Amino acid sequence: MIKYALLRIFSCYLTTILARDKEVVAVWLSILQDRCEIYLSKNSDWLDKDNKFIDNITKYLKNISKNAPAKSEDNERNFLVAVTLYCSTKLESRLKKLKDDIEFYGDDEHVKSFKDFFSAKVGDTNNTSTITISGVCKEYYKKIKKAKVESRIPSEFLRHIKKVASYMVSVIGIIKCARNIQYKSLFSNVQVFKGGPVIINNHPIYSWKNIIKRFIDEDKYKCFMDRCSEMPEVMERISKVYTDNATRKQQQLDGDDVKKYICSHAQMNILALIINKGIKSRVFIAVFKRCCYLCKLYTDFARKQGYNIIVFEPQFFTNYAFDWKYMKICSEWQLPHVEDNDFKARSLIYILKNLDQIIEKKLKHYTSSLSANSSDDNIDMYIKKFSNEFEKFEKYTLLP
Ligand SMILES: [Zn+2]
Repeated sequence: MIKYALLRIFSCYLTTILARDKEVVAVWLSILQDRCEIYLSKNSDWLDKDNKFIDNITKYLKNISKNAPAKSEDNERNFLVAVTLYCSTKLESRLKKLKDDIEFYGDDEHVKSFKDFFSAKVGDTNNTSTITISGVCKEYYKKIKKAKVESRIPSEFLRHIKKVASYMVSVIGIIKCARNIQYKSLFSNVQVFKGGPVIINNHPIYSWKNIIKRFIDEDKYKCFMDRCSEMPEVMERISKVYTDNATRKQQQLDGDDVKKYICSHAQMNILALIINKGIKSRVFIAVFKRCCYLCKLYTDFARKQGYNIIVFEPQFFTNYAFDWKYMKICSEWQLPHVEDNDFKARSLIYILKNLDQIIEKKLKHYTSSLSANSSDDNIDMYIKKFSNEFEKFEKYTLLP
């Protein structure tokens, strides 16, 4: 039990402190007999400052663990400073959202109580360091959780309190784990592995027309495209998907030489590693952001093949639940590179089958509302047909 709790919580802490800005980071922790192995992956390249940061925090983590149970204040302080500097962009953007909430919900009793709590903690509320604010949010969240008033607090405000708090929660959490003598062998010998994304700049793809024509005939395709062209948001999305990454020009929707930038997602890189190693024991993957629909499909497929994978978001360690409301199909997604060709082929069939159903459903929706619309045009017919019903309605004088 301790093992699973540690795996889950520690990977969530790490994911939080490793997301510097907008990138998506995924973390998998593997506990071996005499050490802990940490696998990191993200959806963009690891830069020099990322490597330096990871080397530093690994060093601090090892030192804290080696010195345990004695406290190693220098290492703890260095660790806190490194995290605060590295995460400053993300932390500031979260603080901005919290600030907006405080302004927006200014009259709410809980927001007022937070303001009082904050002033009492920091004294002079001007120029408080970002990590201190994170610490105060952590304390405040503890207080409201204890008082069981979470459900009465504006949800946005509460969410941002938790997000700001997550930095201090993670720093303290990591230090606490490293200081625990029970885990001494794990963290004093910790090994960190970084996996980069697989990026292909000019991957050939089927054209838009090629795909749509598999589902509907030429006549319907024409009507469908007319309909699409009336919707700027749809055309904008089509254009975004088919714009060449290098030339910034939109490629032809019916061309036969369409290319696309594709990139492996952070969660998929780790999953491919687990599949290639054939690890079927329970595995936790912490991902900084909600995964996309294709990552979800691939993970579902892997689960059906016996892989015991649990995906977590580090938002205060709430269990990851897929929500259709947030379903996002990413056009830059790439099939993970697994060595087992049979697995690869079957996973592709599984994903395409699900995608086909979605395309079919969407096309049905758009092409059927087409015919409904054209009959709507004849208002006279409509009025004649339902004139008896109209007698029952209240009358209104529109024109003077
Ligand atoms: Zn994804």
